[in-house]
Amino acid sequence: MTYIHDTIVKLQKTSPAQAEFYQAVEEVLDSLQPILETNEKYKHHAIIERMVEPERQIMFRVPWVDDQGKVQVNKGYRIEFNSALGPYKGGLRFHPSVNAGIIKFLGFEQIFKNALTGLPIGGGKGGANFDPKGKSDGEIMRFCQSFINELYRHIGPTTDVPAGDIGVGAREIGYMFGQYKRLTGNYDGVFTGKSLLWGGSLVRKEATGYGCVYFAQYMLADKGDSLAGKQCLVSGAGNVAIYTIEKLYELGARPVTCSDSSGTLYHEAGIDLATLKELKEVRKARLSEYLVAHPDARFIPVTDYPADGHAVWRIPAQLAFPCATQNELTEADARALVANGVIAVSEGANMPSTQEAVEVFLDARICYGPGKAANAGGVATSQLEMAQNASMQRWSFEEVDEKLKVIMKNIYLSASTTAAEFGEPHNLVLGANIAGFRKVADAMIEQGVV
Ligand code: GLU
Repeated sequence: MTYIHDTIVKLQKTSPAQAEFYQAVEEVLDSLQPILETNEKYKHHAIIERMVEPERQIMFRVPWVDDQGKVQVNKGYRIEFNSALGPYKGGLRFHPSVNAGIIKFLGFEQIFKNALTGLPIGGGKGGANFDPKGKSDGEIMRFCQSFINELYRHIGPTTDVPAGDIGVGAREIGYMFGQYKRLTGNYDGVFTGKSLLWGGSLVRKEATGYGCVYFAQYMLADKGDSLAGKQCLVSGAGNVAIYTIEKLYELGARPVTCSDSSGTLYHEAGIDLATLKELKEVRKARLSEYLVAHPDARFIPVTDYPADGHAVWRIPAQLAFPCATQNELTEADARALVANGVIAVSEGANMPSTQEAVEVFLDARICYGPGKAANAGGVATSQLEMAQNASMQRWSFEEVDEKLKVIMKNIYLSASTTAAEFGEPHNLVLGANIAGFRKVADAMIEQGVV
């Protein structure tokens, strides 16, 4: 226990004001206790001390000119956290909430997530405190170009391979790749999540959402249950939420909610996927506009949310898929879900449940799939995109989807067997953290003090 406290206190001094990063570190260290107690080697090689310190952090100015001719300045980041298992791999997030602490928590989570996939990828993350909301296409392009004018020198298909995250999709990847290509002259697989026209992989767009549903399927199957006929809560209305909803329908479940920063949509008949896609993927409109086509649905604005949490988690359902953002599900939300009889929670977002909420799920012994396991399908499919690019091949939708299913199954098995090995079979947080940690730590030891 004291080493957790000591590590956090040290981080608070050396990396001040990074609350989400401390939260992610604390959760992992808490899980690692049983393995650290019995393995002197990790202590001897100062693995924890080395793992919590990124190999490299790049922070840079991103100046650009808006449509009014005014100069704007944002802060850009790329944190190359750990390369023991492969090139740094992880997305870029463009959102006003981005700061060094947010990118560091995401990068730290990515190390273990990527290790769990069993694929040769290290952990990294980046982004900017840029708000894409309301920006014109030209502004987005100029921002992406300026971002790459600095980042291009740090990335490469065998060194650091960025992808998307919140606020970064195929359009932004396109503008960034274009600028990278202009500056370096290289046409290579330096980004994943690319357009299908020029090197992208089938299923990459759908992969995080699909993977998170496959993970729920495997958790339920272990209990002799399935997704069929289950009422599901989904939060978020981005890429992850949309393809979670799509896969839930395919597997016979009924997703009844989604949400954005303006509020929560509750459609008891089931969310109409075509309307949702039209609103969010084509028109980039507010969720409340869904009511125009479906007046029988209900929209709960954020102003009507409970003071201690999020309206979406107060709706009775059997399954929950947090697919929006970090700390979107509070302790009170978790209690409400459990009281309403939720049987499984599978996280499409990164660290969407607060530490207290996670405790509630674990204590209630429901199936709980933490983000670093349940949402790893996205980055895993990114690695499949890298493999296709490197071998100049192109695999079919079915081929990639099949590989994704196998990877998600292996992640589930790896987390659950490790959890059982340490005497807590229900605790996939413990299982995922230890399974991911062991791979990275042992690789670090074998590679010496670097
Ligand atoms: N941003 C995604 C994640 O959180 C995907 C990263 C990637 O594909 O590199 O895992």
